[in-house]
Order: sequence, then C-alpha cells, then structure tokens
Amino acid sequence: MEALHQEMILDHYRRPRNKGELEGADASVALRHPGCADEIEVQLAFDGERVSDVKFLGHGCSISQASASMMTEAVKNRSASYVEQLYSKFRSMVTGEVLDEESTKSLGEMRALSGVSKYPIRVKCALLAWNALETALEQGLQRIG
Ligand code: ZN
Repeated sequence: MEALHQEMILDHYRRPRNKGELEGADASVALRHPGCADEIEVQLAFDGERVSDVKFLGHGCSISQASASMMTEAVKNRSASYVEQLYSKFRSMVTGEVLDEESTKSLGEMRALSGVSKYPIRVKCALLAWNALETALEQGLQRIG
C-alpha cells in the first residue's frame, strides 16, 4: 500500500496536472510554507458558483506539488459547496481524523496522501494548495457577489 501511494505521489509530482498560468482567472492566491520551501499559487475561474477552471504554479517538495496537482483534478467543474466539503474531508484525512467510508471514497487519488498525518511538517505541505484554494474561492465568490 505504501509503495502504491508513493508511486501515485511521484506520478503527479513528475507530470503535474493543470500546472501553468490560467488566462482570465477570477481569483489567484499564492501561499508559502517556509518550513519546507514550498510555494503554491492557485488560480481559479468561475462560472456562477462553479469552478470552471483551475490551475496552479509553484515549486517545492513532492507532497506539496502532488497535492496541488491532485486538488486541481478534484475541484475542476465542481460547485463551490462541493469544493468546500472536499476541502474539509481532505483536511480531516491529512490531520489523522477518522472518516466514514463514503467520505474516504470521495477523496479518490488524494487518499495517497493520507500517510502525511504522521508528520506535522508534511501535513502543511499537503494542505498548502488547499489553503490557497480556499482563500481563492472566497475571493472569487465575493467578486461574483
Ligand atoms: Zn513540502
């Protein structure tokens, strides 16, 4: 299981999905995790209350970059309320809380990051992209009114 998880994390790290500049983004938030020299910028575009597109930029450790890559795939074309729920589940998983089966299932590939809960510094790596996403989501929704 550990090896499988490692493989999936490295795959996203080496071939990040949705990495680059998002033309016409409605919101953009950059965050740093100095403890690990990770940097992530999340850019969002909205269609009403739906995240119509998402991209990220940044560099850092494999956990931070893989988490960002997986996050973009998970939230693209999802409603803001779905994204909020997913953020909450992801947060619970990486901080070591026990999730019910349905919640665990909804995390999909991101379950590969569950092992970070044992390492507090890694929890921050895994959450960096999500924290940026959360702020970008608030910004974007405010702008839409
Ligand atoms: Zn890191």
